[in-house]
Amino acid sequence: MCDNKRMSSNILVAWPFGIMCVSDRRLVGLLSGTIRTNRLTKMTIFGCADAHGVIVYNGIGMDDEGQTPSEWLLDLAEKQHLFDLPLADVLDGIKADLEARLRGLRTTYGAEKARHTFVFTVWHRDESVLYGLSNYERVDSREEAKEGSETVVLSERRPTPAQRLRIIATGAHPRSADVPPIIEAIKAGELNRARALAVKAVKNVSYGKKKAKGSVGASCQWAFVGPNRDDVWSGLDVVGGAIAMETPNLINIGTKVPPMGDLFAFFGGPGMIVRDTCAGDERARAGSQYEIASKTTTFPEPRCGICGAPLPASHQFCEVCLYDKTLNRPAIHS
Ligand SMILES: [Zn+2]
Repeated sequence: MCDNKRMSSNILVAWPFGIMCVSDRRLVGLLSGTIRTNRLTKMTIFGCADAHGVIVYNGIGMDDEGQTPSEWLLDLAEKQHLFDLPLADVLDGIKADLEARLRGLRTTYGAEKARHTFVFTVWHRDESVLYGLSNYERVDSREEAKEGSETVVLSERRPTPAQRLRIIATGAHPRSADVPPIIEAIKAGELNRARALAVKAVKNVSYGKKKAKGSVGASCQWAFVGPNRDDVWSGLDVVGGAIAMETPNLINIGTKVPPMGDLFAFFGGPGMIVRDTCAGDERARAGSQYEIASKTTTFPEPRCGICGAPLPASHQFCEVCLYDKTLNRPAIHS
């Protein structure tokens, strides 16, 4: 199923010392408009032969085979070992794969619906660079085409003396007032504050026009990636605080994840693929299923007892109605 263009909200920042990415986790059914999940992993952290960084996307939510664009990337890693190659080949390979997939979706759903963008925020030759692969928009321009073209085009934004810090939002855009504070926090070296502000900007999109029931979710995955590929941090940020961490997907790279207190946990590493990490309680464990074909275990996603929206086990509050499942009472929306 081809999802609508505003599916997803991503904020990406690249500056001379770091990159930061924040991405929502909702998937909405195109025909029904109902929330299918609030724990989809749309962010992939990767390492390849000569670069490392983060990939996010907007456009297609799920294809007719039930695969998400995150799974397209994992397939390229597992079946074609694409991420063992240099960045130029990784970009070429994803471009060819995306063009072929969009061709089919375009025939079925038309050129307006068959629009898709992957954005790469990467370290390549000691520079932080933004790359876009899209059939309707570019990372170096605000213009976007109404219809997706037949070809996917690569665009890039390198640092310039006048603009070392670059910030872009893709998918549903944040309010313009929410962007300058993120830039100021990064310039002041207050990275945790920058992250909190970026997450808040995505939450404001979610709680905007559609009052938390639209195509953008209020829980986010985030990543900080330094020029050294050992310097990768990522995690989950949800309304009212996460009670468990779920990493973005990982291809050929590890990430540190801050749990509670002074400790951190380490996931993944070179040569490893980590997909769809998922926190679960005893009920989820009892309902888990191992699928032999895809070698994945799926856990049922609990639902909010009040509004019925998907309520992942890692969340204390329902992000739609703000019900607090631990205290068994409505939360106060701050
Ligand atoms: Zn609810």
